[in-house]
Amino acid sequence: MDTLDSQPHLKLVIHADKTPAGEHPGRFNAPTTNEVAALIVDEVHGNRDIILRHRDEDVTFVSELHRCYDCLQYPLLFPHGEDGYHLEIQKVDPTILTLLDKKVSCKAFYAYRLMVRENDFNLLLRCHSLTNQFLVDMYCKVESERLKYIRSHQDQLRATEYVNLEDAMRQDGDAANVGKRIILPSTFIGSPQYMNKRMQDAMTYLGKFGKPDLFITFTCNPTWPEIKENVFAGQLPEHRHDIVARVFHAKLKKMLFLLKVLHIFGPQSAWMYTVEWQKRGLPHVHMLAWCQDRIHPVDIDRIVSAELPDQNADPQLHSSVTKHMIHGPCGDFNPRSPCMKNKRCSKRYPRDYCGQTCTTNDGYPIYRRRDPGLGGHTATIRQRLKTFDVDNAWIVPFNPLLSKTFNAHINVEYCSLLRAERRIAIACASSGIAATLLQGGRTVHSAFKLPMDIRKKDNPIC
Ligand SMILES: [Zn+2]
Repeated sequence: MDTLDSQPHLKLVIHADKTPAGEHPGRFNAPTTNEVAALIVDEVHGNRDIILRHRDEDVTFVSELHRCYDCLQYPLLFPHGEDGYHLEIQKVDPTILTLLDKKVSCKAFYAYRLMVRENDFNLLLRCHSLTNQFLVDMYCKVESERLKYIRSHQDQLRATEYVNLEDAMRQDGDAANVGKRIILPSTFIGSPQYMNKRMQDAMTYLGKFGKPDLFITFTCNPTWPEIKENVFAGQLPEHRHDIVARVFHAKLKKMLFLLKVLHIFGPQSAWMYTVEWQKRGLPHVHMLAWCQDRIHPVDIDRIVSAELPDQNADPQLHSSVTKHMIHGPCGDFNPRSPCMKNKRCSKRYPRDYCGQTCTTNDGYPIYRRRDPGLGGHTATIRQRLKTFDVDNAWIVPFNPLLSKTFNAHINVEYCSLLRAERRIAIACASSGIAATLLQGGRTVHSAFKLPMDIRKKDNPIC
């Protein structure tokens, strides 16, 4: 921004529908739901103060860390002028109710304020979009508190070990900036050191255990009864990201329990996962699983299915699959589907019928998808006030037990080919931040083809 300020003929323009050349197109898509976002350019230009203008035209700056910041910025949320976070809130020992010599952190303070309690009317959780704006604003406060800590504790973080002229020249290319550099440690989520650490972990897993056996994507279902029961009357899931996140976290723990303790795919050697938020506001997780007893191509049908189940034999599974595991429909049914590129489905649906599962050389196993004339089932689904007849050609591969248990979109893929493994692992390990920008849960379907330069170890992106 310094450069922009010193060049008055330059302007910073943000186009919602433009993608920089050479970048992954999905990363720069606009959100598909109305969401609140904050863009903080540079703190060098001052803190995020609010300005009070007095009646005598005098002005007062109120810092974001002032106790009155919240009620001045959000008078509707704090009609009685309640105090917000400030730096002098002391911690209390809950057992003996005495003040401790430690201060409450910003994150802990707002986590406390946002908690749902019985018989307690919490206005903060009832203001829909204003609540979302408040949350984003306060999260900026949390993040800037962390950044301030890192900036003032560079010695303890041993930043000097990273900062040297050679490093700075290599990354900045400008000797004038040497000395201004602040190193974000690997504990700061999203920093280059963090990404690098995750990537190294992923490569170690691959080195020790070989290729993963399964690639699972589990997406939150906003119609889960746990979410519907816990939002207040008149609220939609997008008004309560706290509930959505908590319910998804509980479901994820349950899925890990099925994998790690109940061994639904056999004993596991290792697993790794990353949780991401889509642009439609729902979390999803990408997970890789390494089984102790390796899954062989002959075992695929036991674990992964790409066929409609028999409605009479298992109505619950049939309902889950028809609701969550049908691709699109796209093509002639819906030419404007996001998967359509150059008038063709980029995910290659509808797939060809196939009498038996086989593995191929391009990294994708071909799952059994029986023709309706040869024993395959069909179903009629309703979307956007239209009805579609679908058969096995439209089914996204799933695991019957997981689909039935969680009633959500859970794509389970067998990792068939060595060629794809490193890219999947790195996508899974390092996509946390970048993939939050991908649209509509498309990351799973495109993960095998992510443009990723694994030689660029300093800043791997997906
Ligand atoms: Zn499609």
